[in-house]
Amino acid sequence: MQIIIKGIVQGVGFRPFIYNLARSFNLSGYVLNNTMGVSIEVEGEGSDISEFLESVKTQPPPQAEIFEIRSEHVDPIGDEAFEIRESEDVEEKFVPISPELATCKECVSELFDPQDRRHRYPFINCTNCGPRFTIVKDIPYDRKFTTMSVFPMCEKCNAEYHDPVNRRFHAQPNACPVCGPRLFLLDSERKEIPVRDVISEACRLLKEGKIIAVKGLGGYHLACDAQNRDAVSKLRARKFREYKPFAIMVRDIKTAKEICFVNEKEEQLLSGVKRPIVLLKKSPDAMVSEDVAPNQKYFGVMLPYTPLHHLLLAESGLILVMTSANISSEPIVFEDKDAFNRLSGITDYYVIHNREIHIRTDDSVSKVERGKDVVLRRSRGYAPHPLLLKHSFTEQILACGAELKNTFCLTRGNYAFLSHHIGDLENLETLSSFESGIEHFKRIFNIEPAVIAYDLHPEYLSTKYARSLKDIRKVGIQHHHAHIISCMGDNDLEGEIIGVSFDGTGYGLDGRIWGGEFLICSFGAFQGAAHFEYFQLNGGEKAIKEPWRIAASLLYKIYGDDMMNLDIDLVKTLASDKWHILKQMIERGVNSPLTSSAGRIFDAVSALLGIRKAIYYEGQAAIELEMRADSSDTDRYEVDYKEHDGKTEIVLVPLIKGIVSDLAKGTGVNTISARFHNTVAAIVLDVCLKLKKQTGINRIALSGGVFQNSLLMEKTYNLLDENGFKVYTHRRVPTNDGGLSLGQAIIANELIRAGKV
Ligand code: ZN
Ligand code: ZN
Ligand code: FE
Repeated sequence: MQIIIKGIVQGVGFRPFIYNLARSFNLSGYVLNNTMGVSIEVEGEGSDISEFLESVKTQPPPQAEIFEIRSEHVDPIGDEAFEIRESEDVEEKFVPISPELATCKECVSELFDPQDRRHRYPFINCTNCGPRFTIVKDIPYDRKFTTMSVFPMCEKCNAEYHDPVNRRFHAQPNACPVCGPRLFLLDSERKEIPVRDVISEACRLLKEGKIIAVKGLGGYHLACDAQNRDAVSKLRARKFREYKPFAIMVRDIKTAKEICFVNEKEEQLLSGVKRPIVLLKKSPDAMVSEDVAPNQKYFGVMLPYTPLHHLLLAESGLILVMTSANISSEPIVFEDKDAFNRLSGITDYYVIHNREIHIRTDDSVSKVERGKDVVLRRSRGYAPHPLLLKHSFTEQILACGAELKNTFCLTRGNYAFLSHHIGDLENLETLSSFESGIEHFKRIFNIEPAVIAYDLHPEYLSTKYARSLKDIRKVGIQHHHAHIISCMGDNDLEGEIIGVSFDGTGYGLDGRIWGGEFLICSFGAFQGAAHFEYFQLNGGEKAIKEPWRIAASLLYKIYGDDMMNLDIDLVKTLASDKWHILKQMIERGVNSPLTSSAGRIFDAVSALLGIRKAIYYEGQAAIELEMRADSSDTDRYEVDYKEHDGKTEIVLVPLIKGIVSDLAKGTGVNTISARFHNTVAAIVLDVCLKLKKQTGINRIALSGGVFQNSLLMEKTYNLLDENGFKVYTHRRVPTNDGGLSLGQAIIANELIRAGKV
């Protein structure tokens, strides 16, 4: 019997599992990895073979994921025993590669066992855990095609590697202190500090308040004591990062519960094999510096996922800031040379190692929403795991994503390979990471796209990249259509849906900046049905960084020069010189593109309430507005609707007037924020009810970066749900632009099928 198994079956202990299973049923034959997955040949009693097959299906190794099992009868070749054979190359090269796996329980207990030969060895791993995607240079997944190839195994490791009953049987990154990678401690001048024990010295330095760049699995972190105010503010000052929250790492769940509220589902997510950063509600008496996550209700918390982390956390006893080492919007630093260039002046020390990282991957970010985990940044631990869709892609497609939080997506058969988080495509460093990432994915999944899909925004680097390619069919996809179809793909839906796409920026078909859109969508087409009325972004990009400009221009539009008499903070603190310039801009309409962006409305309200007039990181004004909301308030503001060009426009005037009147009455900012959130949720319901009446469609997809706002999401979901709608939201791919490439790929596929590409 010949059996082919496709899925996540390499690098997860699949061959040893098959080996042991076959022997337990007295079967002879062999198992091998090839570029399709795992290939097995078994001979024996018919009943044994069928029981064997049943066990493969029902009890695969914990980290394996079987997508397909094909078996067919072949003539027995008379094997006497069962063996594991060399990997082989076959024509159709394709096998999913496992993402990184957090250090398993057995390895952790060996790590802390003084009797074990890997006691305190920071690179301990086995077939159930360790580096995977980040060290893979080519397929099949074998040591010689990983960055471990430069470490010949010692006798003991080699014996484990070849012993079918050993936990390290064919564990490709297998290593020990004798033969494997090692740590080095360097000072800020990159000179090696000769110490006997890097870990204990690093722990001592962290306790002293020093900043250390730590080389990890997918890149470098900057680490410091999260409870040491001076250390955290020093890191902020050196990184020029004033407000954006830092992620923290705690040694165990117990410590997580000392600083945050952690429910059962969150506990599972924190301690699972993917180990993302999990957004958790801060506990009021959390003993962590306020500077770690200023103006936030949440901490981004993760548990150790490499042996090095386990050692640092356990032996220092600290809670550590563990923030990606990068410069502002550039991608995470992962090469040693690069680390030295970019982190000098930021870090006091380096803890590095000599195992090369082949592909950078940032930490992933997730949260629990309505009892389910939702990924916000899909990277380490998730990528390059493909999404398996119901319908097949007729051709291989490359979808390039957007600009911010970029990911790309390659397709093959029923699989969508969504890339790891690339970052904001605003500089050459990120662009080159994008380009080399695409080449790497094409190679390891053997994909040669026939069609390339890109965002319509002509200035996005991803769009320019796509348009510059030769000998490939190209298709531009509208941003918000892609958001909604991404949500459909995430939920594996087909057919028609009412899409609510709320985000910051998306190039519209009329050349305006869309971002508060209600669309009637199918894979192949969409029709704009409603949107927020257009308003000006006075100063263009500047208005995004300084939302007081949007707030002031909305006030001016409503009240004219009388706005100066309004008794609100924003007006009173308006610097006359800046206002003079802005007013001229408004009147002449120069550098004032029109937008319907929901994200910008949140920004403007944040500025109007005096919460955040200028921002230091993307989304800050809206995030701080959400954080301030008193979610118990149920009042809302009025809005108007008008019909224009067959579309419904949501008129903001009554909303802004309501807020201004509340402010004048002295109503608290927390109450106003809640009422504003209630209003936006009510707008979604109003419009969806109307569209349902027109179209008969009862399904709603919520997508776009604005829906990262948990309060808005909860209120909107509940309202729609109570009114009988079937509501779909993102779970497997991000609701922000990080999920966009999946939608682009699905739309492109539909257009190919319709003969339009
Ligand atoms: Zn392990
Ligand atoms: Zn060894
Ligand atoms: Fe978007």
